[in-house]
Amino acid sequence: MDIRNIAIIAHVDHGKTTLVNQLLKESERYDEHQQMNDRVLDSNDIERERGITILAKNTAIIYKNYRINILDTPGHADFGGEVERIMHMVDGVLLLVDAFEGVMPQTRFVLKKALEAKLLPIVVVNKVDRQFADIDKTVNEIYDLFIDLGADEHQLEFPVLYASGLQGLASYVPTLNEHIRMEPILDTIIKEIPQPNQDSEASFLFQPALVDYNDYVGRMGIGKIYSGSVSANDMVTCIRMDGSLLDFRIQKIYQSMGLEKIEVETAYSGDIVSIAGLPDIHVGETICEVGKTEALPHLHIDEPTVQIT
Ligand code: GDP
Repeated sequence: MDIRNIAIIAHVDHGKTTLVNQLLKESERYDEHQQMNDRVLDSNDIERERGITILAKNTAIIYKNYRINILDTPGHADFGGEVERIMHMVDGVLLLVDAFEGVMPQTRFVLKKALEAKLLPIVVVNKVDRQFADIDKTVNEIYDLFIDLGADEHQLEFPVLYASGLQGLASYVPTLNEHIRMEPILDTIIKEIPQPNQDSEASFLFQPALVDYNDYVGRMGIGKIYSGSVSANDMVTCIRMDGSLLDFRIQKIYQSMGLEKIEVETAYSGDIVSIAGLPDIHVGETICEVGKTEALPHLHIDEPTVQIT
């Protein structure tokens, strides 16, 4: 299956959670064989009832035979290191801007990080249904912001889509009556975002960029498989930040499916997965095949401790 890895970036409340939920629903509608998503949306509805709208750190959507991994990005400047690490894992970003509020401080902060990482942004002017939404003004503000932040020629050619996450509608044009269900966003991601390295024959290389927990296995590293593949029970080597080596056995591998994690036997190059087996796994370490120790470049870590889910 082909993979696309994107980060979703926005100022707080500009509609990330709502939009991702609608994209999930749309992918489910598209492929009715995805029984997993029923469960996903159920658990999410429960969250909704409780009034919690927290987007999972990573979500995956299966659409037209593509796996689209969507990473949530903290908007706050205190998480600069985490944002940079997320940008390192993805090949493009979905930038959401509220059509009423326009560009806000966190829009600027996260877009700056994405542009610095040389990523191609797809712009979604969101909440176009809002009374007094000013689509033209918002688009102009976004162009100005790109120029101000020094976007390169390629980045300046960003595609613009128009959406109401609330209504589950999106369009290639601003005209409201041309809006259809969410396919324009999913199709644009598939078309515009480059595919990651999917060379599963090469030797295994993985780098945790985030840390996650579950009650069953404890601490896990969330990261991208840069090359090769990995299976549960494989012996691998961890190259620690100080250069020392530690061999360990892969205990569990989890892939995102909707808003949930599912256990998989094997995971392949290009995918973003959670790996358990090393109780004190740290952000920025390299996990590789035993005897093939080639450290990936160090990741930027500027927080005192990594976030806890
Ligand atoms: P997040 O903080 O970016 O994840 O934003 P949420 O998805 O939680 O949305 C923040 C608020 O905006 C909620 O009250 C949503 O119901 C509302 N909202 C989200 N999308 C839209 C939209 O397209 N139109 C309108 N009018 N409201 C929206």
